[in-house]
Amino acid sequence: MAPTEIPKWLKEAKEYDYSDIKEGIRLHLNESPYSPPNFIIQEVEKYLSQGNRYQHPDLTSRFKELAAEYNKVEPSNIFPTPGGDGALRAIFYNFLNPGDTVTYNFPSYSMYSVYSTVRGLKVNKVNLVENGDWWKEDIDKLLDFAKKSKLVVIDDPNNPTGSPMLKANKDLISTLVESINGFLVLDEAYYEFSGYTAASLVNEYPNVMIVRTLSKAFSLASYRVGYLIANKEVVDALTKTSTPFDVALPSLIAGITALENPSYARKIVNEITENREYLYSSLKKLGLKVYKSVTNFLFVKDNRDLLNPLMERKIAIRKPIDGFYRITVGTREQCEILVKALGEILESGD
Ligand code: PMP
Repeated sequence: MAPTEIPKWLKEAKEYDYSDIKEGIRLHLNESPYSPPNFIIQEVEKYLSQGNRYQHPDLTSRFKELAAEYNKVEPSNIFPTPGGDGALRAIFYNFLNPGDTVTYNFPSYSMYSVYSTVRGLKVNKVNLVENGDWWKEDIDKLLDFAKKSKLVVIDDPNNPTGSPMLKANKDLISTLVESINGFLVLDEAYYEFSGYTAASLVNEYPNVMIVRTLSKAFSLASYRVGYLIANKEVVDALTKTSTPFDVALPSLIAGITALENPSYARKIVNEITENREYLYSSLKKLGLKVYKSVTNFLFVKDNRDLLNPLMERKIAIRKPIDGFYRITVGTREQCEILVKALGEILESGD
């Protein structure tokens, strides 16, 4: 047998820790609890019933036009991807080499660590700082590490804390960008909930990239559709590395129809925000330390085992790090069931 050429770091890497449930209440993956509207499904079915062919490039152009309009940038600033993860993967695989240094906050979205490991990157983690009801970034440390980094990636708002980070603050972003010896990626997966974006900066700073997804507010998680907002030069380079079919036809159609009708996402955001406020005050009333959030999830500090007793009641939440839980905001009914279950668990010392 020929000697294996698989790099050492890849052999040692661990897969994304992904446990799921088949039935019950899903409050563990930050999905939307609502289905996408029927007109999206109908549009996808219409295209699928027309035969099974590679999609016409006009559809990719249409997606780029709509995403550009939605973000007040140009179509040449949009790179469509299979989910926000597809955008992150494109960056980690095309702009970095093994041995390069990446900096991100801790905690933050767990895929940054997965991509860094499988690409053989050196990692600087900057601990977030607890700040009353919120968490905040340690900007001095970020600036310090940025100087030695090829990539700084910041999820803004942060997953799992739900806190805003740079908050599209132009001064902070430009200071950071000027320190980096490479790219600044702002992962705005929860933009529709937070309402702030640094999208307009991609033409001012060619090394700023913004990750977006339709998995959250647009309720399209299973379709795997998202996009990168970046300078034209970055988009042109990434386009050469992709095939015109990377975003599958059903996903592209779902994405186009969603961006043609963004008002349904605004409705979802309003409902989730109301449910989040209900859940936040209910968890506080139960005596839990819960942090404020500008996203569709809440971060809770607790040392007790809540995962197992909740799982026994068919409710899944996530424990991203020891001593902390992340709870996705579900429908009002799901939130009420969770509050009742947690009340019972805490009372019985289960
Ligand atoms: N970025 C962040 C911060 C996320 O939380 C997620 C999903 N949990 C993603 C990106 C990727 O989402 P998707 O691939 O479904 O678009």
